[in-house]
Amino acid sequence: MGTVIAIDGPGGAGKSTVSRGLAEALGYAYVDTGAMYRVIGVLAAERGIPVDDEAALAALCDATEIEFGERAGVPVVTADGRDLSRAIRTAEAAQQASRYSTVPAVRERLVAKQRAIGAAADVVMEGRDIGTVVFPDALLKVFLDASPRERARRRASELGGGDGEVDRMAKEISERDQRDRSRAHSPLRAAADAVELDTTTLSIDEVVAKLLEMVHRRLGVLASSS
Ligand code: C5P
Repeated sequence: MGTVIAIDGPGGAGKSTVSRGLAEALGYAYVDTGAMYRVIGVLAAERGIPVDDEAALAALCDATEIEFGERAGVPVVTADGRDLSRAIRTAEAAQQASRYSTVPAVRERLVAKQRAIGAAADVVMEGRDIGTVVFPDALLKVFLDASPRERARRRASELGGGDGEVDRMAKEISERDQRDRSRAHSPLRAAADAVELDTTTLSIDEVVAKLLEMVHRRLGVLASSS
């Protein structure tokens, strides 16, 4: 079993940028579980699979090889060799991910893939349920959040939109939050033992530095107690 750092929180809280920075500083692998749900969402929508067809969705998850890589420093996500890095980043893909991720058969299969990755390497894994469901024994669990306005602003700038996009993003984010927090299976919530951090007024470097210190402290405690 590798060392797992679990980073959870809603969209736009800074999870991806912070997790990548933390993984790089620690020399750990970085796993974006949202990208896995986005891939399944995009493929399921493309094939017209209804959200209530659990058998077809299970078969899709079983048959799809999702791989993470990097090209010129930019993360690349492929499904059976097909590059979906751009296709999964649209607002539509985010909504598809949020819809199909409510299906238990999809969650069970993607959680199994995530556990296999964490069993084989030291990882920083980001998502919605990493500390609560996927790795409840993670070395460190962090729940990142930020004000709804700031989260919408970050998402708009990620998608290359101007100020006019912020209102649209705020609506999209709040719809997705509502669905992620209220679903029956693995809803978005902080684990009881997660460190909760509001990133609204913090820079990426400040958040990474704080988390790095927490990880070192925990690894130091482990080393001195063994
Ligand atoms: O993190 P990201 O915005 O890419 O996630 C897209 C969607 O995938 C989320 O809104 C959520 O519905 C789903 N997701 C999930 N569990 C995870 C990661 C993402 O349900 N561990």
